[in-house]
Amino acid sequence: MKPLGPVPAGFAAVDGELALGGVKISEWLAEAGDTPIFLYSGDMIAKRIEALRTALPDRIELNYAVKANPWPPLLEFIEPLVDGFDIASAGEWLLLDEAGIAARRTSFAGPGKRDEELRTAIEAGVTLNCESAGEADRALAIGERLGRAPRLAIRVNPDFELRGSGMKMSGGAKVFGVDADKAAGLARRVVDAGVDWQGFHIFAGSQSLDADAISEAQRNTIDLARRLANEAGITLPKLNLGGGFGIPYFAGDEPLDLYAVGEKLHEIAAADVLPGTRLVLELGRYLVGQAGVYLTRVVDRKESQGETFLVIDGGLHHQLAASGNFGAVVKRNYPIAVAHRVDAEPEEVVNICGCLCTPLDRLATQAHLPRAEVGDPIAIFCAGAYGATASPMHFLGHGPAREMLV
Ligand SMILES: *Cc1c(COP(=O)(O)O)cnc(C)c1O
Repeated sequence: MKPLGPVPAGFAAVDGELALGGVKISEWLAEAGDTPIFLYSGDMIAKRIEALRTALPDRIELNYAVKANPWPPLLEFIEPLVDGFDIASAGEWLLLDEAGIAARRTSFAGPGKRDEELRTAIEAGVTLNCESAGEADRALAIGERLGRAPRLAIRVNPDFELRGSGMKMSGGAKVFGVDADKAAGLARRVVDAGVDWQGFHIFAGSQSLDADAISEAQRNTIDLARRLANEAGITLPKLNLGGGFGIPYFAGDEPLDLYAVGEKLHEIAAADVLPGTRLVLELGRYLVGQAGVYLTRVVDRKESQGETFLVIDGGLHHQLAASGNFGAVVKRNYPIAVAHRVDAEPEEVVNICGCLCTPLDRLATQAHLPRAEVGDPIAIFCAGAYGATASPMHFLGHGPAREMLV
């Protein structure tokens, strides 16, 4: 295979055609009813989780961050494989509830939780990761009205960051969490108010491929949590260490060294740090990102001023991230292949544009690919996380992409 960039292991060529789970893409498309579609590999997700279980100490629990991909059949598939779920809205809780996932396994982070969302979570027994003193007060008041102690943790805005992380969510002034210097005081106060105390949630960043940086952030997270617990004079039933494990999207990206991260966590576990505290990692992208491919077809092939454009039947309304408009600093091509000639040599340089009437809808620039004609299938990899769910599906009225778990 010679597609651009790092194509996840799990995809292969069969008779020159892209295949998933040993089955050619054309066969999956025939079964699903054609492009545009996201195909997700259950096998790749299961293997990824198994690799994590092998690399990490038994003491570390694994949560799935639902926002990466909340598609219900995917949630049902992941349900028996992980310990818990992290949600970011009451709407995501409804999806979990419908999938039969227990509230006790669920925690709810996110700024701007409305009273109605707090009430839903408290009634169900979902853990609230409180983002501010004001939110904690509202949760206490709602709990009182309901006659129910909220299950409550405090999200801390740490005084450090995950170095080199793709999206900064900590370090400095942030909308997320309670500043580290205020967290102990608030924790003491909610414990005294009689909440069902769950501990701290400290999320330092996302999309890191640097094992040392992740280990350093985990070390800092544990140190901070111990300091805050001592200062507040409380114990921690649970410490959510965040996640931030990234996946390689671009040529030259090296995959995260999971074993290096695991080794450091083994050292922490061996030192019996925070005995009696459940240690949790919450991962979204790392569990599902590489297990998805977005499949489209060429609708038009045209030349303009010496450049070739392939226009496909999908676009940023399904896969915004591949267009570089979802938090990317520099626009680079996601791994792409002409799916029915996946191991052919590159023959031409093309721009791949979606069918939306906006110049933003460009999914690859100057990509070196085998020649593709109208009707040919184009595969865009790394589409399992922040794909369908993080794209403006209603924009321009083309409708959603299909989704299929294989
Ligand atoms: C977005 C988010 C995650 C998941 O991030 P990934 O990069 O998908 O692993 C986990 N925790 C919190 C609090 C988040 O906001």
